[in-house]
Amino acid sequence: MPVSDALRQALQSLTVPGLGVPLSVAKMLKGIEGDDGTVRVKLEWPTPAFPGQDEFLATIRQAAAGQLASGQSLEIETSSQVRGKMTGGAVGLKAKNVIAVGSGKGGVGKSTVATAITYALHSFGCKVGLLDADVYGPSVPHLTGVATQQPMAQPMTLPDGKQITRIIPIESSGVKIMSMGFFLKPDQAVIWRGPLLHRAITQFLSETDWGDLDYLIIDLPPGTGDVALTLSQLLGLAGAVVVCTPQQVALLDAVKAISMYRQVKIPVLGLVENMSGEIFGRGGTRATAEKMGLPCLGEIPMDAAIRIAGDEGRMGTIFNTDGPGVQAFRHVAQQTALQIVKEQLQGPALPSLEIL
Ligand code: ADP
Repeated sequence: MPVSDALRQALQSLTVPGLGVPLSVAKMLKGIEGDDGTVRVKLEWPTPAFPGQDEFLATIRQAAAGQLASGQSLEIETSSQVRGKMTGGAVGLKAKNVIAVGSGKGGVGKSTVATAITYALHSFGCKVGLLDADVYGPSVPHLTGVATQQPMAQPMTLPDGKQITRIIPIESSGVKIMSMGFFLKPDQAVIWRGPLLHRAITQFLSETDWGDLDYLIIDLPPGTGDVALTLSQLLGLAGAVVVCTPQQVALLDAVKAISMYRQVKIPVLGLVENMSGEIFGRGGTRATAEKMGLPCLGEIPMDAAIRIAGDEGRMGTIFNTDGPGVQAFRHVAQQTALQIVKEQLQGPALPSLEIL
């Protein structure tokens, strides 16, 4: 006996956790075939970082169990394919999803979270790049242990014969990194005028040899909207993740940052509470996110292992360990990836805080 309609129906109508839509709408079922002995279900995750995979597979097995003919067993074959829109055409960037990480103010751990999301997505098997666009205080080279390196320029010939120069990004623990920090002396400050800033960001996006990426993470400067505006003019971003600490003042700044992203038409994917715990408190971000109708993507505890890894330039290697901070970072990366899939299925929510 092949596959019964009842079984097809039961599987197609299962609600996908996190997405809140049936499997058929989520377009994750790539085939149901069967013979007398076996029913084979092909399931494609929309990102390898999709959260709750084991639990959902168990749900599928349970739903199928009642609909299998006697003697039939179920086999689920899984694969994953990162979905995305490739919206970097104008600057020649080939990244399926561009995620900006911002904050209302400095010192909340924005660069640490941006770096951690990058490595966490890589640990799930995604191709990831990290652009440090925090031109006022580029700290990514330090956090990733590559501060003394310098990217090389490489001449290349395009298929039409045109000669161009590409900058080869620095690799650290499997991810590609580019930062203004590579081009400055450690104690050198730069005054950025608008057009110069615009040109530097454009160059980092278009002249870096990023290759094909599933995700490009961009560490934005805190607060101000100039880099965010430039980015939104150059690319279609998947969205912004806003990092804050739990105290009230920090949350007020985060709310301002959210309003700024909405003004420059960057959808906000959600908020992350960093340094959650006894010192600054806990849960304030979730409450603020709920009030603003946004997801809280996770709470990262104050964890000495994170600070030490950052100080020593070992943010990449902590993903070989399994402390509370690392687990929280993985969760944030998964929720961020999930939120992007959700927005791509539903279309982004319309910004409700327009003050133009
Ligand atoms: P920002 O980019 O917002 O200015 P950073 O990412 O540079 O902030 O972080 C500021 C400092 O806080 C760094 O020393 C970093 O290691 C530390 N830090 C960030 N997040 C945590 C955390 N969850 N636990 C412990 N230390 C943290």
